Amino acid sequence: MTKRSYNFNAGPAALPLEVLKQAQEQFVDYNGIGMSIMEVSHRSKEYEQINDETQQLMSELLGLPAGYKVLFITGGASTQFTMIPMNLLTAGKTGSYIMTGAWAEKAYQEAQLVGEVSISASSREGGLLNMPAIADIKAPSNSAYVHITSNETISGTQFNDFPNTGEIPLIADMSSDILSRQIDASKFAMIYAGAQKNLGPSGVTVVIVREDLLKNEPKNLPTMLRYSTHLKNNSLYNTPPVYSVYMVNLVLKWIKANGGLAGIEAKNREKTALIYNTIDNSNGFYEGMVEKADRSLMNITFKLQSEELEKQFLKEAAASSFVGLAGHRSIGHLRASTYNAVPYESCKALAEFMQQFQSKLS
Ligand code: PMP
Repeated sequence: MTKRSYNFNAGPAALPLEVLKQAQEQFVDYNGIGMSIMEVSHRSKEYEQINDETQQLMSELLGLPAGYKVLFITGGASTQFTMIPMNLLTAGKTGSYIMTGAWAEKAYQEAQLVGEVSISASSREGGLLNMPAIADIKAPSNSAYVHITSNETISGTQFNDFPNTGEIPLIADMSSDILSRQIDASKFAMIYAGAQKNLGPSGVTVVIVREDLLKNEPKNLPTMLRYSTHLKNNSLYNTPPVYSVYMVNLVLKWIKANGGLAGIEAKNREKTALIYNTIDNSNGFYEGMVEKADRSLMNITFKLQSEELEKQFLKEAAASSFVGLAGHRSIGHLRASTYNAVPYESCKALAEFMQQFQSKLS
């Protein structure tokens, strides 16, 4: 039997075992065509079917109203940091950013290279360890858009609710929490996410856009950096990352089969409760790093009382097949990423390991 680790990697991250097995089964012969899906034209009927079905599944799972389109673009979520202002930040407008952590900062820095930007709310005063109150998010009236990061992957904070920005388009980087919980997608004019956490392998970025957002697109943008290029060509303007989109297709079917977003959210809440409760019931042996009200369902950040103890924790965890528990190199400490595909059993095993580690040392 294949030995699988308890995988808490932050991204690329765990994929559902059922999906990996299905991909393995179809690896050298996709649906009896005598070739892998990687070996056929992206203009073939097989790939076109995957392309269309994946868009359809995404739309269905998110409950997208009419007028939205699902695009598959390359360059990672980081390229979206650039494409968003290039396409939307027109003269006389400001790009409003909600400063919640390292990823919001990157999006903001990139937009600054393109046009005028402003910060409409921030959690800098709280050391980026909480989310700003929704009521405090007030964007200037000349905002081209308001950009939020729904889940800060590094610090482990997450918005529980989203602002109502009225006429101003709301854009969300959902790279680390897309399809992990129920949301009202109609609040957003654009949602984007690199695939490599909750959707599949790296290589494709899913961009969900309300079509009317693109009506003022500047005329002088390079072809590949224009949303309209991808929109008009059904994400087939150039050769797409065929295998990544194929894997996203399988993952979306897996989410649907597991109760859609309601089912996935319930499971994610059960999984994280196991670990957060262990932290909260440890009498200070473990300490959660962010404010409780803003704790992420996807990235659980915590510390021990000393760096030595954290090193020992990581060493013993590795010996028991736990992977990916070191915090991001910029902030250190510990982090368990509990994306959709991380099984309940892995979270249970981690909670037990944490309790045993504590009893042994106290
Ligand atoms: N936004 C968030 C919230 C992320 O977590 C990441 C990657 N960890 C990115 C953006 C950057 O994504 P990519 O590597 O696909 O450019």
